[in-house]
Amino acid sequence: MSENIPTKNFIQKIIDDDIKNGQQNLKFRFPPEPNGYLHIGHAKSILLNYGLAEEYDGSCNLRFDDTNPSTENQEFVDSIKSDVAWLGFNLDKDPLFASDYFEKLYEFAHELINKELAYVDSQDQETIKLQRGTLTKPGINSPFRNRDKETNIQLFQQMRNGDFNEGEHVLRAKIDMSSPNLNMRDPTIYRIRKITHYRTGDKWNIFPMYDFTQCLSDAIENVTHSICTLEFEDHRPLYNWVIENIDLNCKPKQIEFARLDLSFTITSKRKLHTLVTEKKVNGWDDPRLPTLKGLKKRGITPTILERFCKLVGVTKKDALIDVSLLETCARDEFDKKAPRLMAVLDPVKVIIENLPENEEISIEAQNHPKDKTFGTRKLKLTKEIFIESTDFEENPPKKFFRLSVGKSVRLRYGFVITCTRIDKDQNGNINTIYCNYIPKTLNGVNPEGQKIKGIIHWVSASENMKLKVNLIDRLFSVAEPNRENDFLTALNPTSLVEMANAIGETNLLEFVSQTVQFERLGYFTVENQTIGSDCLVYNRTITLRDSWGKMKKN
Ligand code: ATP
Ligand code: MG
Repeated sequence: MSENIPTKNFIQKIIDDDIKNGQQNLKFRFPPEPNGYLHIGHAKSILLNYGLAEEYDGSCNLRFDDTNPSTENQEFVDSIKSDVAWLGFNLDKDPLFASDYFEKLYEFAHELINKELAYVDSQDQETIKLQRGTLTKPGINSPFRNRDKETNIQLFQQMRNGDFNEGEHVLRAKIDMSSPNLNMRDPTIYRIRKITHYRTGDKWNIFPMYDFTQCLSDAIENVTHSICTLEFEDHRPLYNWVIENIDLNCKPKQIEFARLDLSFTITSKRKLHTLVTEKKVNGWDDPRLPTLKGLKKRGITPTILERFCKLVGVTKKDALIDVSLLETCARDEFDKKAPRLMAVLDPVKVIIENLPENEEISIEAQNHPKDKTFGTRKLKLTKEIFIESTDFEENPPKKFFRLSVGKSVRLRYGFVITCTRIDKDQNGNINTIYCNYIPKTLNGVNPEGQKIKGIIHWVSASENMKLKVNLIDRLFSVAEPNRENDFLTALNPTSLVEMANAIGETNLLEFVSQTVQFERLGYFTVENQTIGSDCLVYNRTITLRDSWGKMKKN
């Protein structure tokens, strides 16, 4: 893959200019809302913010943007913390919480009221919305817009005390109802919510809105560059308005970049919620999901994500990134790092008739054909072995270089065998394949006068271990599931195929902590909780080749 990485992205150029103009002590932040699990899009934001902090010798805060008590909880906080740590960041620091600033934010709101830059509106949400106007029509001033300061202060205090019901009043910034930017038409900055907050409990009856909280939290933390996704571009004037009208020393700069959008993937938290709650997948860490927990379980590593995000780059223009780029990054890493072993997913028995009953041929196999430093391991080739059912054909098409009656094939690292006959059960399924081995064909030596083209993988019938292998594929079968009326109709029905009777060589036990290649089948990663059990469960991390471009075959 060509490493076409631009030297500086537009954000680095902005920062370089700021530094030239005297900016010091650079500070960034990653501000997730704890209302779901992090996904690959968040990884891009994390790598960007923590990456800039490293590059510019600054720092980066992990701050939970937790101002909506109805959707947030501690489970999400814990998972986000562990995901950020998994990516290698914020390891030695405690995270910060916008909810720790509630008291300060309340004082800031007071400051705006005192400056006659905020007022309590006692109209319902529907009316406020109607008065907001449209892109072509200016808004209408609320009849409460010119409430005197004292009344506003008193009402706001009562809102805090819990004297009113939800929806009875809101606090609005007093900006400009005829601004061409709808966000500037007296946005709501506080609302009444009588719901228990997972951290502050029932202490607060009012909660600040995102546009009020984000900029002030940034300023409280002395963040210099507040990086967010493009949908907040139109909110920037409001961000700046709040910062300018409140007495603060810090003036953070908001910069927007294009969010990561991947083909065959959903990165909307709401839709991920739907997939989990409607049990279309097995929890937030389902290896088919683009959540960081799912990617981890599937075997995708932080270094793969880092390289992928580098190749995607940071731009100002929304674009759909082809998921095959991520898959290629994974293949590139595992090609170098994954030891090669053998497993058979759908076993069929082979009896090598001319090999004596108790004979065991000891074989030394390379753990990585291209890298000797991976060392070797021992295999035992025995009279009875298992091969992949798809490696035998009763009626082989032309150019079928695997096994069929009368044909020969090489066993990986072993000798050449020739099939003599097969034996079937009442249903016509193959029970046993009978073969003879050809002597003196070990170590790649061809039998006299023959050139053997096919090499197949195998596992000894007397020395092996049971496995369950999940063949993981793309969760959606269309490139842009988001564009479907109902994204659930775009689910790929074969995104998970369970191979319940798989077996593998016992050497696999030595390699459970890393992703391995099952020769000819792909790269696979053990599910951690099955280590030590009598049946390891493997998830396919990635196939050896991209079959999606061509005809799709699991
Ligand atoms: P929502 O706000 O709709 O619940 P969100 O995905 O924006 O969803 P946040 O928890 O607010 O969730 O995101 C935290 C940070 O991650 C934000 O700064 C956001 O801009 C960034 N982020 C979220 N999704 C992506 C994405 N797909 N690509 C890049 N950055 C993203
Ligand atoms: Mg958000």
